[in-house]
Amino acid sequence: MITANKHFRDVFGHKMYKASISLDVTCPNRDGSKGVGGCIFCSEGGSGEFAAYCGNTSVPDQIKEAIAQVKKKAGTDAGYIAYFQSFTSTYCSPSYLKKAMDEASLCEGIEAVSVATRPDCLGGDILDVLKRQAEKMPLYVELGLQTSNDETAKLINRCYETIEYIEAVKKLKSIGANVITHIIFGLPGETKDMMMESVKTAVDAGSDGYKFTCLYVLCNTPLEKLWEDNKIAILEMEEYFDIVEAAIAILPDNAVVHRFTGDGPKKILIAPLWTKNKRQVVNYINRRFGL
Ligand code: SF4
Repeated sequence: MITANKHFRDVFGHKMYKASISLDVTCPNRDGSKGVGGCIFCSEGGSGEFAAYCGNTSVPDQIKEAIAQVKKKAGTDAGYIAYFQSFTSTYCSPSYLKKAMDEASLCEGIEAVSVATRPDCLGGDILDVLKRQAEKMPLYVELGLQTSNDETAKLINRCYETIEYIEAVKKLKSIGANVITHIIFGLPGETKDMMMESVKTAVDAGSDGYKFTCLYVLCNTPLEKLWEDNKIAILEMEEYFDIVEAAIAILPDNAVVHRFTGDGPKKILIAPLWTKNKRQVVNYINRRFGL
């Protein structure tokens, strides 16, 4: 396993920061074309609460603002990844996506593009846009697998089957994209073996990188109701990182771990509260995983 920092230094020669962007898109799992209400854990902001602006602000302005926010910390020897983060960033017309990526690529400091999407939103025309982008600069595509178990997937209202993820990874690799897979540990009803099965599925599919997170409960999500009714349990910190350690043990040596755990937006986070103390969690991760 290698860390994202090491990976970025190897590829770009310096530290990389993300400039989060929201496009004017939604998600097929929200607008009724695949499902309604979204995945049960997904916030109203479509997991894009860290983007600087909403989709009505131009891409260059969003990037400028996002870079300004981290510039002091990043210093002069750093590069930036234009991160299309909110909702399903390829759930739009190919021309809209192309324009957004072209604009992002021209922004000062941008050396790579990263796109968060779903496996079922990668049609031929969209793949062509992504392929052209990957020919210009490194392209990362993040896929929300969360679990390889189709029963759990139904329970969390993911609204696509795992086979679609496996096929999407194949297609993305064939156009030169670097694939990052999101996996959630602690989904309702999942045992540790089931969680490891999700990791193995992603490894076998050929995922290059991983973003792990514990299940967290956010306000105004269907998961909140299950939490209030005591129908779900949330992992404690040690318990969660025991699972992460077991997952890392089955990753290939060159797999990149981009995230050891997520930290839900503090304002709407209900549980687990241990993720709120980011400094303590980062120190714990560094100690435990020798980073
Ligand atoms: S696919 Fe992504 S954006 Fe859509 S509801 Fe699920 S987590 Fe939210």
